[in-house]
Amino acid sequence: MKCPYCQTDNDKVIDSRSGESGFAIRRRRHCLSCDKRFTTYERVAELDIRVVKKDDSREIFQPEKIRSGIERACWKRPIPTAEVARVIAEVIENVQQCGNGEIESQEIGSMIMDQLIELDDVAYIRFASVYRQFKNINDFVQGVQPILKRNEIELHQATKVTAQGKPR
Ligand SMILES: [Zn+2]
Repeated sequence: MKCPYCQTDNDKVIDSRSGESGFAIRRRRHCLSCDKRFTTYERVAELDIRVVKKDDSREIFQPEKIRSGIERACWKRPIPTAEVARVIAEVIENVQQCGNGEIESQEIGSMIMDQLIELDDVAYIRFASVYRQFKNINDFVQGVQPILKRNEIELHQATKVTAQGKPR
């Protein structure tokens, strides 16, 4: 496998394990040329998954679309590259393990939004605005609701922790 950092094909597999679903093998590799580490995923390629779109038409699942959608949402955000790669890999893996070979495009959208909301508010909104096709400010306000709700819960929990942490 060519190293993503130095492009040299000289690595050693240091760890190899099955993904949580058992549908992917995750290999941790150590580049002997530049000493960096990277991860590869090995999965079944032949299985064609069909994505059911809103108008009920179907198209072959293209992992590349997931990748570009997520990368576009995370563009220039302070998110570690490895985190973006992890989210992309997880979503693709989740789609590929869907049982009957079909998955609704809405379900894929929700999976991505569930991941992005944990990662970065701006990335989440960017993705949501494209995916949900925000047309006006009301759509936008609707779109940020999950973030506001989450922040409220976090604030609430943080306050509780502080209160408990006070010396008696
Ligand atoms: Zn390297």
